[in-house]
Amino acid sequence: MRIGCPTEIKNREYRVGLTPESAGELVNAGHEVWMQAGAGAGIGAYDAQYRDRGAKVVDTAEEIFAECEMIVKVKEPQASERAMLREGQLLYTYLHLAPDPDQTHELVESGCTAIAYETVTGPRGGLPLLTPMSQVAGRMSIQAGAHALEKAQGGRGVLLGGVPGVMPGKVVIIGGGVVGFNAAQMSAGLGADTVIMDLDPTVLEKVGTHFEARASTRFASKANVEEAVAEADMVVGAVLVPGAAAPKLVSRAMLSTMKPGAVLVDVAIDQGGCFETSKATTHDDPTYVVDDIVHYCVANMPGAVSRTSTYALNNVTLPHALRIANLGWKEAMRTDPHLAQGLNVHAGRVTYPAVARELGYDE
Ligand code: NAD
Repeated sequence: MRIGCPTEIKNREYRVGLTPESAGELVNAGHEVWMQAGAGAGIGAYDAQYRDRGAKVVDTAEEIFAECEMIVKVKEPQASERAMLREGQLLYTYLHLAPDPDQTHELVESGCTAIAYETVTGPRGGLPLLTPMSQVAGRMSIQAGAHALEKAQGGRGVLLGGVPGVMPGKVVIIGGGVVGFNAAQMSAGLGADTVIMDLDPTVLEKVGTHFEARASTRFASKANVEEAVAEADMVVGAVLVPGAAAPKLVSRAMLSTMKPGAVLVDVAIDQGGCFETSKATTHDDPTYVVDDIVHYCVANMPGAVSRTSTYALNNVTLPHALRIANLGWKEAMRTDPHLAQGLNVHAGRVTYPAVARELGYDE
């Protein structure tokens, strides 16, 4: 199969669909890989590295969309890319169609077969092609929050790990799933006083067993959240209620109970945010202050660490890409029901029921 990987063109997107190593694995399996020149520059992977592994480097995205049977990307195709998709072509990338009727309509019209990373399931449950980005965001939340806690950034001037003779900072993580667990690893690793809160007893047990004395767990009742937030130097919002907007767990009134200069990091901002005062920010201007509390609410945190994120993403996307290329998408899906869950659009139809329902394609 001829597989193409164009340069990402969404604003501030530095990741790339294929690392040089992934391109090499596809080539070794007998496929052709066409990379757009410069596609890997945002992760420090240069054209020569792709060529060394047997990929062909072409100048334009037009050549890739015109000539390749499968397009591998990171972000949903932008309007100019959608205009180049054609009947029977395979698109393998993050799509997030439910809130995006324009994209869905144009993918349907194109006649392409679109496989969305975010709906592929895993044998042990969950959404394994989303997990690495939650791991990145969770780990990054502590790094971003620690920076925001510096006085010059508007924070209260607290070093999370403290120093000998001075108490460490207190980090409260609400939600102990993938983001929360990874945030706790960084927070506890830095030596901060770390509390993980969740409503699910099995999550609290798992986290408690893992961290033992390095972090404490606490049931996320309203009263407990209010008390913990008031004591925190940093609060990380890491909750998810599948299929729903994030619940608002910290109200504006609660900000006045917090220490001035404390930091709220709302990782759940991509689901609307779990703090009442959250509004989405960008890497260019990541923080703002409300009632003396610093807010960090970047919706695409993994984009800032494009190299780590691309390698983490390729670890989970490449095995499916190889099977699709080796077997053809139909046989790959017939023999792997989890990959089949990724099929969102095919031959002019929305094939993923939740998206079809949400956007009225099931009528
Ligand atoms: P997850 O499903 O692994 O974990 C969510 C946890 O929240 C679960 O343990 C659940 O029990 C808990 N929870 C739900 N309601 C709660 C409540 N009221 N109080 C306390 N805990 C509650 O999800 P995840 O992968 O960790 O993702 C968390 C959020 O981070 C999602 O909204 C996800 O979209 C977002 N995210 C954002 C970025 C970013 O760049 N901003 C990147 C990746 C993920």
